[in-house]
Amino acid sequence: YLISFEGIDGSGKTTLSRMLYEHLLKEGHKVSLYRDPGSTELAENIRKLILENDMDPTTELLLFEAARSSLVWEKILPDLREGKIILLDRFIDSTVVYQGFGKEINLGTVNILNHISTRSIKPDLTIIINIPLEKAVERLKTSKSRFEQDLEYLRKVRDAYFLLPDMYKERRYAFVDGSRELQEVFEEVKNLVLSLIND
Ligand code: ATP
Ligand code: C5P
Ligand code: MG
Repeated sequence: YLISFEGIDGSGKTTLSRMLYEHLLKEGHKVSLYRDPGSTELAENIRKLILENDMDPTTELLLFEAARSSLVWEKILPDLREGKIILLDRFIDSTVVYQGFGKEINLGTVNILNHISTRSIKPDLTIIINIPLEKAVERLKTSKSRFEQDLEYLRKVRDAYFLLPDMYKERRYAFVDGSRELQEVFEEVKNLVLSLIND
């Protein structure tokens, strides 16, 4: 199974995906956790390039897709063949909402590049952690090493997540209210995943 975590910066993706990873391991499942961009040597290098350099949106898009291609080829495809559960801290939908809606790159272009980098695989479940913008900003203040976020940009990105189910007509999307206490959010995330894998 392929399960992606989505949501704006500070929504709780990394925290929740790590908790779920530990839980599934403990339950004896074969499970992997990756971050996109990242999680291969090459993709981690590309991640650094993206985060440490200013660049035009198209160059950024291509680098995100190159990193994803590396992750899919080196890790995700082999894991799928082994029947593992794969947890992804961001995936294709991030590119649609950040580079497509946020930076206004043509959505057809984004879709084509997502198809190429993923070899057309899609998540079975995409958990979108939804929190108000103000809460996200508040949380990011307390976490280390954050570059300044453009609020208008993040608002566009946040709004775009809600358009995905209609746009793609796919049933993989689940919205989770991430503004609640962490344990409560985790229970809901866990139940979504358990109902997928015990199906
Ligand atoms: P980014 O996109 O920037 O990587 P993220 O979605 O991965 O963000 P996290 O790093 O998991 O978000 O969480 C951001 C901060 O909020 C962390 O300090 C984390 O401990 C805290 N946090 C996460 N979930 C909750 C919650 N439900 N209640 C309170 N604090 C939370
Ligand atoms: O969630 P993660 O820590 O991997 O994201 C790193 C940074 O890259 C975040 O600031 C996020 O907003 C940005 N990002 C982006 N476009 C994407 C994915 C992430 O701008 N497609
Ligand atoms: Mg994170």
